[in-house]
Amino acid sequence: MRSLVDRTVDLLIIGGGIIGAGIARDAALRGLSVALVEQNDFASGTTSRPTRLIHGGLRYLELFDFGLVRSDMREREILLRIAPHLVFPLPFLLPMYRPSLWYRFKLRVGMFLYDLLSLDKSLPRRAWLDRAETLAAEPSLDPDGLVGAWRFYDAQVPLVEQLVIENLLDATKGGAIVLNHARAVEYVREGARVTGARVRDEVAGHDIAVRARMTVNATGPWLDRPIAGLRPRATPLLRLTKGIHIVTPRATAHAHVLFAKRDGRIFFVVPWRGLTIVGTTDTDYEGDPADAAATEDDVRYLQAEARRAFPDAPFDTILFTWAGIRALVREEGVSEGEVSRKHALYDHERRDGILGLLSVVGGKITAYRDIAEEVVDRVAGKGTRSRTAEVTLPGAGTGAARTVTSALCRHDPTTAEDIARAVRDEWAMTIGDALLRRTTLGLAPCQGLDCLEGVADHMARLLGWDATRRAAEIAAYRREIEPMRRFSVE
Ligand SMILES: Cc1cc2nc3c(=O)[nH]c(=O)nc-3n(C[C@H](O)[C@H](O)[C@H](O)COP(=O)(O)OP(=O)(O)OC[C@H]3O[C@@H](n4cnc5c(N)ncnc54)[C@H](O)[C@@H]3O)c2cc1C
Repeated sequence: MRSLVDRTVDLLIIGGGIIGAGIARDAALRGLSVALVEQNDFASGTTSRPTRLIHGGLRYLELFDFGLVRSDMREREILLRIAPHLVFPLPFLLPMYRPSLWYRFKLRVGMFLYDLLSLDKSLPRRAWLDRAETLAAEPSLDPDGLVGAWRFYDAQVPLVEQLVIENLLDATKGGAIVLNHARAVEYVREGARVTGARVRDEVAGHDIAVRARMTVNATGPWLDRPIAGLRPRATPLLRLTKGIHIVTPRATAHAHVLFAKRDGRIFFVVPWRGLTIVGTTDTDYEGDPADAAATEDDVRYLQAEARRAFPDAPFDTILFTWAGIRALVREEGVSEGEVSRKHALYDHERRDGILGLLSVVGGKITAYRDIAEEVVDRVAGKGTRSRTAEVTLPGAGTGAARTVTSALCRHDPTTAEDIARAVRDEWAMTIGDALLRRTTLGLAPCQGLDCLEGVADHMARLLGWDATRRAAEIAAYRREIEPMRRFSVE
């Protein structure tokens, strides 16, 4: 934090989710001086709670949002290229059951458009599988009334947390200063201009003023909170909706797009790291996004719909859940599912007469690079050009495969050296940072509980924790994963 005293950076970014991290990288690659502050851990907000797809979203075709689908497809192609170690092609099946002629026609047109809007893609095109071919590809599908399935390709980012970290690592290579567990508590102002923010180090407990020529609010679903003081009595910019996922033992061979019987909504069943993710729900949400958790209703809804589609698959066993809050551009008079997923940049100068501040409203992970480019174009002006579509992320081409010598836990390949790297090079400061967002141990069925004492010993040595602090950190980790394990069946 000390490195920020007595200087003014070109750009201060508040929020270390995928959008903030993407902005930091883009700006640093263009030579801007950058600071980024994150109140909790990088990627600990909505970014670590999605379906983990890099996709155009078939659903948006129904809403005639062709522009959004087209640009997401372009971004999918870019991410497959710049992050081939983190973003992978994923084949999907879209099974059809006794469809009406109209429904059959609608899906055929949808599939045609999905291919058309990504003509320049490297992924295979759609194909129709008849009933026998569909059941051969996915034997656990309910065969009753099945006529066949469309197979098409999208992409998956199984460890989106690492995508955030690699954006930040690249940003720091370009000189950016990134602060983890550092909350922007209020904007610093000179008259009508925002000139930075007062930032609290949540670990050490002291504040500093970070001065900046431009500040970007990239706080996702928290957005209305930090700017509330600047826009008294104004309507919120966001509509918040909650979506949950359940994680179960491996249930299917393919990823599936399915229509829920109860309400006709689209939901996904997706293979993920040897397990299966089922999601998501979409319900209006109020309150602190940090408190979001799955409810009994959410879980039973997904379980019932997944069981209908795959009657014999192991959906009774829930390993854990996660719940995330969508930050959607506020639109009145439409249902949760109909609100556009397109982002918007909110210019406080034009709307509220406040200079030096820009807010990012909404935006998918898929679009993060493009959103970051748009933000930095606005901040840096026409004289600079984004390079993020061409420059690969730091982990690309480093041969991510490695020999596991001594894993900490029998369910997961994470080693003591991985934890050390997380602390030394990737800003991990708590057990949750290291297990949930730097390594895969917290995303294994046991979530690291089987080896928690050993991990705590190791981190205590690395970070100089005494016995009291070590015990407090273990308790904090247990509290952090408790909402994820409320429905766990061991
Ligand atoms: C259920 C669900 C499923 C989804 N699935 C997909 C998908 O499959 N594919 C896809 O592309 N998108 C998906 N999305 C959307 C995607 O996850 C989000 O749009 C994206 O993660 C938003 O990133 P963000 O950086 O804006 O927000 P966040 O990740 O929430 O980051 C904002 C950060 O700001 C920090 N912050 C807040 N206040 C302060 C402060 N005062 N000081 C410092 N820091 C602060 C927070 O701690 C947080 O880390 C999904 C979303 C949900 C909810």
